[in-house]
Amino acid sequence: MTNKKINFGAGPAKIPEAVMEKAASEFLVYGNSGISILEMSHRSADFTAIIKETEKLMREEMSIPNEFEVLFMQGGGTGQFAAIPMNIARGKTVADYAITGTWSDKAAKEAEKYIDIHKVFAPTKPYTSISSYSSWEKKSDAAYLYYCANETVHGIEFHTPPEAHPDVPLVADISSNFLSRPFDFTNHGIVFGGTQKNLGAAGLTVALVRKDLIGHEARHCPSILSYKEMHANNSVYNTPSVYGIYITKLVLEWIRDGGGVDKLFATNQEKSRLMYDIIDSSAGFFSCPVEKAHRSHMNVPFRIGGGDEALEATFLKGATERGMIGLKGHRSVGGIRASIYNAVTLDETRALVDYMNEFEAANRK
Ligand code: PMP
Repeated sequence: MTNKKINFGAGPAKIPEAVMEKAASEFLVYGNSGISILEMSHRSADFTAIIKETEKLMREEMSIPNEFEVLFMQGGGTGQFAAIPMNIARGKTVADYAITGTWSDKAAKEAEKYIDIHKVFAPTKPYTSISSYSSWEKKSDAAYLYYCANETVHGIEFHTPPEAHPDVPLVADISSNFLSRPFDFTNHGIVFGGTQKNLGAAGLTVALVRKDLIGHEARHCPSILSYKEMHANNSVYNTPSVYGIYITKLVLEWIRDGGGVDKLFATNQEKSRLMYDIIDSSAGFFSCPVEKAHRSHMNVPFRIGGGDEALEATFLKGATERGMIGLKGHRSVGGIRASIYNAVTLDETRALVDYMNEFEAANRK
C-alpha cells in the first residue's frame, strides 16, 4: 500500500507509510484481544500497555528529562492555550508572550481571558522574523515566558530556545516541529503540541510538564485541562484519544527504527535546504519573505512572480496534476506553503523541487 499523492499539507499531515501499513494490519483485530483498538476500553490491559509504551518511547526518542511528566490530553494546541495560564499562573498576574505569528498571537489572545499578557516585543506584521532575544523586555515576575517554536502559517522557527529569566519557566508550542529536531529542555516548564503533524493523528495533544508546575491550577480550571487531574490519573481521567495514542506509538517506533531524532533532523535540514536553495537561486521568481536565520525546516512559505496570484493558481493546478497536494498557502497569507514534516521524504521533496524548476523555466518572463 502507498499513499498515491504526495501530501504537503500543513496538518493533519502525511503519516509514514510503514505506520499506516502496520495500523491497517492490526485494524480489525489487535493482538490477542479479539477486537479492534477502536472498540477497546481505555482501562483494558491492552490499552494500558499501549499508553505506557507510548510514554516510554516518547521519553526515549525525545530525551525528556525525568523532572517532566508526559500527559496525553485532548483539546488540541488550542486547549493548551487556555490550560497554560489556568494551570501555572501560581498567583502571578502576568505572563510574557513572544508574538511571532498567528499561533503565538492566538495563544496570547486565549490566555488573556485568564491572565494579563505582556508582549516582550512589539509584534511586527507581516511576520517575517524573530526580534533578537537580547532586545526582549521580559518581566521577572511573569508566571512564564511563552513562545511558538515553529509558526506553521508563516514558516518562522526558533532554532535555539529564547533566553529566559532564571525564575520564569519557558513554555514552548512545538505542534508543528515536534520531534523534527533535538529539543533542549533547559529552562522550560511546559512543552506541548498536537500530534496531527509530526506524530500521527488529530485528537491527541501531548503536554510535557515539569513536575513542580503541576498542582497549581485555578479553581475554575476544567478537569480535562488540569495537569494535576491528568497526571493523577495517568492521562485516563476520562476517555482519552485511544486510537490517536496508538498511532503515536507507531510513529514513535518508526522514528526509533529509522535512527531517531538526530537522523530525522539531518534529513529535515537537507529537505529544507533544497527548498530554500531553489527559492533563493531563482532571482526573485520564487520568494520567501522570512529572514534566513529564522526560516522553518517544516513549513516553507513562498510566493511566485512577486505574489502573482494567477501564476500561483497555475502552479497549484500543475502540482495537483502531478499528484502533489496541500500546497496552497494559509488563507491569511496566500501564496504557496510546502509543509515538509518528518514523514515527507527527501525524494518527495526532490519531486517538488524538480517541478518548481520546470515551472520556473516555463513561466519566467
Ligand atoms: N499551534 C501551532 C503551531 C499550530 O500549527 C496549530 C494548528 N495548526 C495549533 C497550535 C492549534 O492546534 P489545534 O488545531 O490542535 O488546536
